[in-house]
Amino acid sequence: MNERWRGRWKTGLPILVVVILGVALLTGRLSPRTQVLTTTRMLMGTLVSISTWGVPPARSDRAVNRAFAEMARIEDVMSSHRPTTEVSRINQVSRETWIPLSDALGQLLQQGLVLTERSNQAFAMGLEPLTGLWGFSSDRAVSAPPPSSAWQAWLQAYPATGAIELRELPDHTRQIRLKSASVGLDLGGIAKGYAVDQAIAVLRQEGVDNAIVDAGGDLRVIGSKGGEPWRIGLQHPRQTDQVAAVSLLQGDMAMMTSGDYERFFLHEGQRYHHIMDPGTGTPAQSGLSSVSVQGVGGSIAHGLSTAIFVLGAERGLALLKQFPGSEALLITTEGQPIQTPGFVGTWLAKP
Ligand code: ADP
Ligand code: MG
Repeated sequence: MNERWRGRWKTGLPILVVVILGVALLTGRLSPRTQVLTTTRMLMGTLVSISTWGVPPARSDRAVNRAFAEMARIEDVMSSHRPTTEVSRINQVSRETWIPLSDALGQLLQQGLVLTERSNQAFAMGLEPLTGLWGFSSDRAVSAPPPSSAWQAWLQAYPATGAIELRELPDHTRQIRLKSASVGLDLGGIAKGYAVDQAIAVLRQEGVDNAIVDAGGDLRVIGSKGGEPWRIGLQHPRQTDQVAAVSLLQGDMAMMTSGDYERFFLHEGQRYHHIMDPGTGTPAQSGLSSVSVQGVGGSIAHGLSTAIFVLGAERGLALLKQFPGSEALLITTEGQPIQTPGFVGTWLAKP
């Protein structure tokens, strides 16, 4: 910077600051109450970010820290990757034994089993042995499918119905029983939705009415940014650096996405991904590459996105109809969008 410029800059600065402050005070833009405050942390194997609007930073920090703590607590219960969680301990107990459940896990399983029944068993929370077989239950990179004898043996042993049994005792506590060694809990298709719901509940308890909790694209919003909606970009399943659609969400809305592009490998020209069809023992091939579901509850929206991915467009949309208030945007493997009338979103990608 030369001297002349510096001199001018110095005299110009106070005027500039006063002008900006004046405009800011008039529009309220610099007030800490009207800023979006965002914090990001690594949780549940993904980047989770929480943004708030309309609360002073100190209160926002407190609320957001509590929300993250709640999500971490849920991960400590629901993860099947860590050996000490409640889910892992259930998986270690011998089958045919009734095991007491915590309230949180009991409630989530009960919700999930409704989806299992209505999806004709396509949504299955007991696929840990199968995802393990395919190598998707660890963080290790996989590059080839297992021998077909391995998943065929699993398929033979996996029960057609009743893989997971729940019962409620007179004291209203719940117990679980896993049918056979081919069944082990893996809540990857629903738990993020539940964690996002619980984080939103904590934010509300802390007096935050405008926020978004985004767990790697599985998200829920409440309120707005001073009347402006929250802007959500949906990743394109094939051109993964591109946005396929944009949703402007406000009020109370969850949006959960299941895709074949998040965890996958290519082997001899074939794509193998982490959403399994329990009817075949292999990654679901239903003609879809991405399913986004919007609805008022995160856990049901998350479970629905996974279930629809397995069922495909026709049967998936029939399932969606059984959950009033739920809407979906499906993207076929050819890149064609299928959007239900109430889905809030604008398709951007060229087919
Ligand atoms: P994404 O990771 O693309 O968001 P989902 O949210 O649908 O996809 O979660 C996929 C995860 O759900 C898998 O990693 C696995 O843990 C679990 N899962 C796989 N197949 C099924 C299924 N048929 N039903 C329920 N959960 C499943
Ligand atoms: Mg998901």
